[in-house]
Amino acid sequence: MPHIEQLSPHVADLIAAGEVVERPASVVKELVENAVDAGAHTVTVEVQSGGMALIRVTDDGCGIAPGEVETAFLRHATSKIRSEYDLEAIGTLGFRGEALAAIASVARVELLTRRGEDTLGTALTLEGGVVTGREEAGCPVGTTLLVRDLFYNTPARLKFMKKDAVESAACLAAVQRQALAHPEVSFKLIKDGKQELLTPGDGKLRSALYAVLGRDLALGFLPVEGSGDDLSVSGFASLPTCCRGTRGYQFFFVNGRYIKSKTMTAAMEQAYANQKMVGKFPGCVLHLTTRLNAVDVNVHPTKQEVKFGSERQVFSAVYYAVLSALGADQSRPAAVVEAPRPHDTVTQRQTALPLHDFTAPRTSGTPRTPLTVPGGGTWSAGRTGARPWTPPAQSAAPTRSRDAGTAAPPPPMPESSREERREPPATLRQTENVAAPVSPPPGGGAPHPADPEPRRAEVPAPAEERPELPWRVAGELFRTYIVVEQGEKALLIDKHAAHERMNFDRMRAQDYTPMSQELLVPAVFTPAPEEGAALLEHLETLDRLGFEVADFGGGSLAVRRAPDYVDPGDIEATLTEIAGKLLATGSAGEAERRDELLHTMACKAAIKGGWKSAPEELERVVRAVLSGAVKYCPHGRPVAIELTRAQLEKQFKRA
Ligand code: ADP
Ligand code: MG
Repeated sequence: MPHIEQLSPHVADLIAAGEVVERPASVVKELVENAVDAGAHTVTVEVQSGGMALIRVTDDGCGIAPGEVETAFLRHATSKIRSEYDLEAIGTLGFRGEALAAIASVARVELLTRRGEDTLGTALTLEGGVVTGREEAGCPVGTTLLVRDLFYNTPARLKFMKKDAVESAACLAAVQRQALAHPEVSFKLIKDGKQELLTPGDGKLRSALYAVLGRDLALGFLPVEGSGDDLSVSGFASLPTCCRGTRGYQFFFVNGRYIKSKTMTAAMEQAYANQKMVGKFPGCVLHLTTRLNAVDVNVHPTKQEVKFGSERQVFSAVYYAVLSALGADQSRPAAVVEAPRPHDTVTQRQTALPLHDFTAPRTSGTPRTPLTVPGGGTWSAGRTGARPWTPPAQSAAPTRSRDAGTAAPPPPMPESSREERREPPATLRQTENVAAPVSPPPGGGAPHPADPEPRRAEVPAPAEERPELPWRVAGELFRTYIVVEQGEKALLIDKHAAHERMNFDRMRAQDYTPMSQELLVPAVFTPAPEEGAALLEHLETLDRLGFEVADFGGGSLAVRRAPDYVDPGDIEATLTEIAGKLLATGSAGEAERRDELLHTMACKAAIKGGWKSAPEELERVVRAVLSGAVKYCPHGRPVAIELTRAQLEKQFKRA
């Protein structure tokens, strides 16, 4: 064995640098965080060749005192904490005093900085962590950090760098996160001479969201807000219909710091249970604000993971905030009318989506101290109208069933009479709505909820309340879509999807007992062995769903009782589907399995698309949809879309 020796400071620095500076994007992250901590209002980031050739971060923050520029590059040198006690309540993004030392040890660095009170600034150059030059310099107040030839002295690290395009994308992502974390700061990113991002820095999260995601994507987000004893949650989350194939649009922040949190991810996604499509993920930009000492940020070198004092409290806060935002949302997807020629296309989707007040809860920032405790000024948690979350009671769906309860839950809907099913399509029935909801039509025509012209303002105006206008069923299309006329709008309702949701909510309510009937002749069938075993293992569950199943011997099962809405000819298929779900949810929790099974039952109990339905059935569905309680089917498909008179007039060139 060779002898044991302490490594030279240079080698120790290189090793430490590996933890903090993994790739160009880590440099960007650290420098931008320093700029934010310095109270900058504007931060400009330039990268060339993926950041490998050059990274320059310029801010208009407080600058560094001439006597401290060298110190800033020493390891464990920081202005942000002083004692071990400060570690318990960290209010700045940085605190470890490692970033500048780490960056300088693996690159050629130039610093140019001036404080407001100094007439001259300082220029300092370093190479591989060693100061190579220092002079006084005239420069604006603030700091510019230039990092060239990253990893020039660590060839091993250099080998691991990806293509420039990949590295610059990572740099962009790093700036985007900071932009979403700090709407009060204006961020600009210039990549190889081209501006890639500019946020206004107006203090509104909504503006930052628009700048980062672009208008089209941003329109698919709903404002989220909630506050409780010690925590507040605010931001935006996807409409269930705007979920995407990846988790790439999930951003979580705690006290202004971008973090990754399994708890917050799980809580947010849980809020979409039974209203988003399988395999799709909601996006979000969620800010959690809490007492600084309720979260430990000193658990990870890049500070992207944190430890919460109470993960449970965080889960509830996020879950209920998102759940109530989804519950409060009354928007409906607009019908998209395709025009034959591209330049004629009306981009209804963009203009007709109901617009929300996206104004962020944050009052305009106090940038010099970007992070303060809740109530301390930077954040005003829980605006008017924000519904505080309640502690997680029994796991059942709290908000939804409450919402659904505003209109008395409809009694079980009689199934469309079976003999009618194979009839040819009926002519459209004109069903005048007798029991129409309350208020008379406002004189002089209702305001147009959808403006056919694209709005000029980047940020849409608040939506008006959905008026309770009288309505009538104008007919049914393809025995599938109910056409409802209300004020200046037509609503197309997918009758099966809507009824499926109504059933699902009813079945999920605690006191639901299925109406089931004894079969005159037991239905006997032979499922695949695995499926048969799954069914026999869950006889009690099947009983709760309304099926009495027994082992018939020889691998066959006998069904003696079944829910009355399941056609005898459909019993085998239904139980096979249930068996499949029992197998698929083997490792899932009880609640998730129950929901999966109820999806099947709700679907079976729903009026079917393509089949004739009684006018009263259709009206009941319409009423539920108009009440706002029914928005998505349990698989996340919308139950209704809107078509406005203005849209039609535009298409017919009347407007
Ligand atoms: P930390 O951010 O953890 O304190 P760094 O190594 O990133 O450590 O920075 C060291 C110190 O240099 C900071 O504490 C701060 O005082 C100073 N500093 C770094 N960047 C800037 C900047 N852009 N503006 C003003 N001061 C800065
Ligand atoms: Mg720092």
